[in-house]
Amino acid sequence: MHPTHLALLEQAPASHCNEDVWARLCCEQALLALEEGCYAVGALLVNQAGELLLSGRNQVFSNHYDSARHAEMQVIDQLETLHPGQDRNALTLYVSLQPCMMCFARILLSGIPRVRYLARDRDGGFPGRHTKLPPVWANLASRVSLAQADVDPYWSNLADRAINQLQEPAALRQRILRAWEGDHELAIDAGTISGN
Ligand SMILES: [Zn+2]
Repeated sequence: MHPTHLALLEQAPASHCNEDVWARLCCEQALLALEEGCYAVGALLVNQAGELLLSGRNQVFSNHYDSARHAEMQVIDQLETLHPGQDRNALTLYVSLQPCMMCFARILLSGIPRVRYLARDRDGGFPGRHTKLPPVWANLASRVSLAQADVDPYWSNLADRAINQLQEPAALRQRILRAWEGDHELAIDAGTISGN
């Protein structure tokens, strides 16, 4: 990890909130995504025993442009591939940023009942059950608890900074527009921070 990013993790205040340990790991994944030139979002899955089951990060630009590789999607892909026998009912999905519409729908289909995010995404986050959903989706949403995590504000701020300040949203939008035009030279564009 880039030293400046490692420092952001190291200078956090001493943990005093229930979910700080997961917040740190989410932010670590988000910063790794940033270093890879992807959206700075990280996610992880914790089981009923309070153990880390798996983690992931946004990788939409890691190879060719892959619109589905949001952090939450990566984690759910791993869950379904690597842990098909896992009881979903006691799982908690932690994510550094409020889930988008695509990920929210995937979460509903995955059977994961509890989602905790660090930073709100006022422009792109899906509000969940407060929005009018078709009946089947509303029924699925009614069993899911989606809320901000109980963490030190440092972590929420870092998750927000990672996506809104430490990287350039405009540059990422340009990369998507170029990918839509069939430009496969995405790696040259980078905008990545070397040193990882
Ligand atoms: Zn998403």
